[in-house]
Amino acid sequence: MTEDGTTVEGSGETATADRSDEAETEQAVDSGESARRELDAESASLVVEDLRKSFGGIDAVDGVSFSVERGSLTGLIGPNGAGKSTTFNLITGVHEPDAGRVAFEGETLTGMRTSSIANSGLVRTFQIARELEEMTVLENLMLSPRGQSGETLTNAVLPGLRGSVRDEERELRETVWETLELFEIDHLAEERAGNLSGGQRKLLELARALMLDPTMMLLDEPFAGVNPTLEEKLLDRIHELREEGLTFLLVEHDIDLIMEHCEHVIVMHQGQVLAEGPPAEIRSNDRVIDAYLGEDV
Ligand code: ADP
Ligand code: MG
Repeated sequence: MTEDGTTVEGSGETATADRSDEAETEQAVDSGESARRELDAESASLVVEDLRKSFGGIDAVDGVSFSVERGSLTGLIGPNGAGKSTTFNLITGVHEPDAGRVAFEGETLTGMRTSSIANSGLVRTFQIARELEEMTVLENLMLSPRGQSGETLTNAVLPGLRGSVRDEERELRETVWETLELFEIDHLAEERAGNLSGGQRKLLELARALMLDPTMMLLDEPFAGVNPTLEEKLLDRIHELREEGLTFLLVEHDIDLIMEHCEHVIVMHQGQVLAEGPPAEIRSNDRVIDAYLGEDV
């Protein structure tokens, strides 16, 4: 790093050294500090305001505010224990915040149930539950909440609606197969979910989340345990979905991956937002570099 926070190509001193394609942009950044980006209500899909959550004296999330631009692929990074997963849990209603507010497409989500939040279009992936491991990949997708089996059953007892139920099920089946093909797991349709490799399981988790027809997805380390080929596949899918208009907030420990694929990066440290900005700016931010000191950046 030079004194003004720009990256010296090939210096080998920092993780930024290998990103020669970004060097030009970085020269334009004259300060390591990055101000919080203010998105207007029109362009922000998700707005998080002063979120707080402590667990027995530990301030896991300590006044976190940020916005995610609609249609963006935004990265959320930070050292272990920074509060990233807790932030996701607060956004998606898994935990109730001690304070703060979450708004999605202008609607306040704070205090809403996880399922209602998912129905509003904000979806996160969940690990395949044990009961679902016994079922096939196909059944896993058919049974995803979007399958609305409860509603279908209710309709099934009303003879007049039989036709529409059949239509609904045919439509669901079509969506399921399209999703299986999208994730290239159609050949695994009859495989028990429990028999999938770690990477295939991640694909299924993502496919299940997609069955909810989200407009925004929160992905918490979706590539953990995924081999490079599958990781690339997943990333391709994410970019394709994004081109169709989906918004992504991605937590990932591989900083290079985040810098390559995300156009905006939010950095958390000790429960707070340390910095946010475009990758080139984040890479040359001294506070970010300090926060990662001793870590494998
Ligand atoms: P990250 O995902 O960035 O690694 P986490 O959000 O998982 O960080 O954790 C932030 C801090 O909160 C850590 O100190 C962690 O131990 C603590 N924490 C997270 N979830 C809980 C919980 N359910 N109970 C107690 N402490 C928790
Ligand atoms: Mg985490």
